[in-house]
Amino acid sequence: MARLCAGIPTCGAIIRRQGLARIEGRCLCGAIRYKSDSAPVLTAVCHCTHCQRQTGTAFSVLVAVPRGSIQMEGSDPHVYFDVGESGQPVLRKFCAQCGSPIYSEVAATPQLDWIKAGTLDDTSWLQPQVHIWCDSAQPWVHMDESVARVPRNPPME
Ligand SMILES: [Zn+2]
Ligand SMILES: [Zn+2]
Repeated sequence: MARLCAGIPTCGAIIRRQGLARIEGRCLCGAIRYKSDSAPVLTAVCHCTHCQRQTGTAFSVLVAVPRGSIQMEGSDPHVYFDVGESGQPVLRKFCAQCGSPIYSEVAATPQLDWIKAGTLDDTSWLQPQVHIWCDSAQPWVHMDESVARVPRNPPME
């Protein structure tokens, strides 16, 4: 995980704080619930055009957790097999009843799953550490100057 966080100055401190967070949430209709006992790794805001279209709004707020750590309850999520702007597969899991996006498996980050943070029961601890795909951010979106911004995918080295 350290590689993903390289160049993000406050990453370590925020990750320690996020270690106290509870990863538990649900879709809008409640047919799908999920939790993860693992500490969140990273909170990112994604401004890619696919997230804009899928969410119907300007960006996704995403919490990364270790791949495979999400435990699902209730209905099985449906999967949309997307190809990200990176050219790599993105499996977007969503509730077939209400349409809420739940989480994505991104081939470019094989160690992480990306939860749509708006589905969390407790969002009080969220603090974005990086804005990604800023090249396609809506021009009116204000980004905190102290938060790292990258034009496309986060640097992996
Ligand atoms: Zn639902
Ligand atoms: Zn995105």
